Amino acid sequence: MKEQLHRSVVIIGSGPAGLTAAIYAARADLKPLVIEGPQPGGQLTITTDVENYPGFAEGIQGPELMEQFRAQAARFGTEFITSWIDQVDLSKRPFTLHTEDHEIRAETLIIASGASAKWLGIPGEAPAPHGLGGLGVSACATCDGFFFKGKKIIVAGGGDTAMEEATFLTRYASRVTVIHRREQLRASKIMQEKAFNNEKIDFIWNTEIKEIIGTSETGVTGVRLYDNVTKEERIFKCEGVFIAIGHKPNTDMFRGWLEMDAVGYLKTAGRSMATNIPGVFACGDAQDSFYRQAVTAAGTGCMAAIDAERFLDHLPVPTPTGEEITIEGERVTADHEIVIMPDGEVVPNKAESESATASD
Ligand SMILES: Cc1cc2nc3c(=O)[nH]c(=O)nc-3n(C[C@H](O)[C@H](O)[C@H](O)COP(=O)(O)OP(=O)(O)OC[C@H]3O[C@@H](n4cnc5c(N)ncnc54)[C@H](O)[C@@H]3O)c2cc1C
Repeated sequence: MKEQLHRSVVIIGSGPAGLTAAIYAARADLKPLVIEGPQPGGQLTITTDVENYPGFAEGIQGPELMEQFRAQAARFGTEFITSWIDQVDLSKRPFTLHTEDHEIRAETLIIASGASAKWLGIPGEAPAPHGLGGLGVSACATCDGFFFKGKKIIVAGGGDTAMEEATFLTRYASRVTVIHRREQLRASKIMQEKAFNNEKIDFIWNTEIKEIIGTSETGVTGVRLYDNVTKEERIFKCEGVFIAIGHKPNTDMFRGWLEMDAVGYLKTAGRSMATNIPGVFACGDAQDSFYRQAVTAAGTGCMAAIDAERFLDHLPVPTPTGEEITIEGERVTADHEIVIMPDGEVVPNKAESESATASD
């Protein structure tokens, strides 16, 4: 028999987005429940130095930063469940969520389930201490490029992500070599041109990376390459490896319920974190294929919590269509002229006295 819970705000995920949402919701006295998921603390727990999160002049280790987030959320009364959601029913409020041991009813739901970088699955790639992840292997140029000043690095991939990462990394690296397993790139024409015209970037075609070489003392020293045309192997010396074969948002369980793009990123309203289902909000990397940073995830987590607070306070919240909706189901048209009541009645959204001088 599953334990039954009913909460005002349930947050799926405990990365920067989920825990920031928790801090805001907890300080608004909404007693949020965070389902921590398979990776408590999120993606930053598998990295070492984080140097671009504001407020830490000397930088901070990823796991330590996330402990601080969690402690701050706990301090204001956030409740945690260390399990993950495997099934949802968003057909009506309260929404129903299932973990292995719990059936949870949620008046509002904040989805902060993040995304996972795709990896090659080769020896040497795992996070330290099992591999060289954080010791020269990365999946985020914006995050880690700075550590590779004057170094010779490789980028794995042939799509837009790889071209973008390679181009960005030329700010720091002495040489960037793109390793691609086919003889042509998948990247868009404009991204290819940018990379081909960059003197610091060269390409190795028809080649697969079989292993990342190095030790915890030396960091990355090279890669073992396999030419899939000549069938020959060789060692290629380098000091850094960026895996740039894309990301996958952790949103499969919302398929059929929530609007998402072709890859699975959840769609949210332009100026709010509302999804197409009133009362369900999404934040962080689960809805952001572009910025993918801890600080932007935290920022949208704050927005999602404020949206949920407003919704629970019976105030209108913007939706992806431009309309606003209240918890009772009243719809304010995008031009703010009309309110459509839940029974279909249409009423003007005008203040009592149009002639009164508005001061706000
Ligand atoms: C190696 C690496 C280094 C990075 N370095 C930096 C850096 O230096 N600076 C920076 O700003 N950004 C960095 N990033 C990016 C940053 O980590 C992400 O942008 C950020 O963590 C996204 O936060 P999030 O809360 O949206 O999602 P995530 O951090 O991905 O967290 C997702 C959360 O959802 C949970 N979850 C998933 N599925 C379920 C489920 N079914 N049920 C319940 N919970 C679930 C997970 O357990 C996890 O807690 C790095 C990323 C990586 C991979």
